[in-house]
Amino acid sequence: MFEREKEQVLKTALEIKRGHLVSLSGGNVSARVGRDQYLVTPSGMSYEEMTPKDICLINGCCEVLEGRRKTSSDSCALIYMFEHMPKVNAIIHTHQPWATAAGFITDTLPEFLVTIIDACHNPVRVAPFTPSSAVGMGMLAVEYAGESLAVILKHHGVLAYGADLEEALYSAVYLEESAKTFVLAKAMGADIPPLDPALIAQEKAGWETYGQ
Ligand SMILES: [Zn+2]
Repeated sequence: MFEREKEQVLKTALEIKRGHLVSLSGGNVSARVGRDQYLVTPSGMSYEEMTPKDICLINGCCEVLEGRRKTSSDSCALIYMFEHMPKVNAIIHTHQPWATAAGFITDTLPEFLVTIIDACHNPVRVAPFTPSSAVGMGMLAVEYAGESLAVILKHHGVLAYGADLEEALYSAVYLEESAKTFVLAKAMGADIPPLDPALIAQEKAGWETYGQ
């Protein structure tokens, strides 16, 4: 079941690996594919060795409905997010270093660059630490999400999400690029002035015509 969707999950997982947002088997990619049905990358498996058959189909109780692998250890947190964020159909969890570093110097990554405005849609808040592999990670992510498409998890990494895998991937990748700029600018002692909300709104309107 969901063969095409499994391929898309795997393709996205390979993208986050290629983009250095995770190392080895870190992080995970998940997608809502039906009522109470989710695809999640398996636990502790190298992305390069993964095939679509390794992607787990699970239900809202974290039970594997299809697949021979153990599902990601973060699955309960991911399900909590899907259940409490009805517009979200895809979640990417990474340990991306620049965004995680930014989480130590700010409580909110502001809309200071076109990339974060366009890809994350709103300022990205930093959620306090909670142990991984527990539902609390999902609960804090929902609490700190706001209208943004990402949350930085302090001492941990990032949860980026969207209406589909492509939107979640854009959020994760451009959050990392923006966070790198933020951290480097701060390290050089730069003052990063806030952008005028009217200009931010103008930027968002322009983004709607971007792409094919
Ligand atoms: Zn993690």
